[in-house]
Amino acid sequence: MRLTFVNKFHTSRLVLKQFIPSMSLVYTPERFEELKANVGSIQQKVDEVSSGQARLVCVSKLKPASDIQALYDMGYRHFGENYVQELIEKAQALPKDIEWHFIGGLQTNKTKDLAKNITNLYAVETIDTIKKAKKLNDTRANVGGSKIGVFVQVNTSGEEQKSGIFPGEDLTQLVKTILEECPLLELRGLMTIGSYAASYSDGPNAEFGVLADCKQAIESQFGLKDLQLSMGMSGDFVQAIKQGSTSVRVGSSIFGSRPPNNGH
Ligand SMILES: *Cc1c(COP(=O)(O)O)cnc(C)c1O
Repeated sequence: MRLTFVNKFHTSRLVLKQFIPSMSLVYTPERFEELKANVGSIQQKVDEVSSGQARLVCVSKLKPASDIQALYDMGYRHFGENYVQELIEKAQALPKDIEWHFIGGLQTNKTKDLAKNITNLYAVETIDTIKKAKKLNDTRANVGGSKIGVFVQVNTSGEEQKSGIFPGEDLTQLVKTILEECPLLELRGLMTIGSYAASYSDGPNAEFGVLADCKQAIESQFGLKDLQLSMGMSGDFVQAIKQGSTSVRVGSSIFGSRPPNNGH
């Protein structure tokens, strides 16, 4: 009994990981209106709380290309995706002036696909090791193309199993490597994924505070200014903006819920 259950669970996870949604760009008027109402209320809140200063990135992972086309036709340009293959297929099918954000866990061996296949990549937001930074830089150098924007993902919760580099000396060394040894990368800012516990407690989010402090520290150490802060999702983007976020990543509040078990 137990074994059967475990097997089924693993199989469905695998299937979901490889699930690529439809690349048709045709949407229904009903879906257009639904998305318009959803994104409109999120955009309004973002504008209100940030006084028009923060960007909304629509997180479209596992959603059909037609949903993205509908938002594109409303004027939206920044979209976030988590899976390399899905992003490549969507980038090929959809308009070339979309600004794609890769926000998924990045395996070093997939950096080549990102560097090679997507010309309109605004940023890879999940750089958290020196190895990944160098690999992305070197593959871009090999395949040619303009600079790739990057965010350094920071582990602001201190939980060992979470991705992201730790604040302090580790972060400093990674930023130094990007600035000094990666001419094809452009550091755009810092990113974090808030822990569930912190997102659902009231008041200021300690993890967002940590990321804002990291930005101050990095800017003063390297004489940089205007680094972006990518933090905040459907459940906590208002609080994130209050704590300095300039780029929020919102998925389910715009597109509706996703299939279970696909992680972030
Ligand atoms: C899925 C995802 C989001 C969007 O999450 P929602 O809760 O659906 O808004 C934001 N950031 C990352 C890194 C994600 O993986």
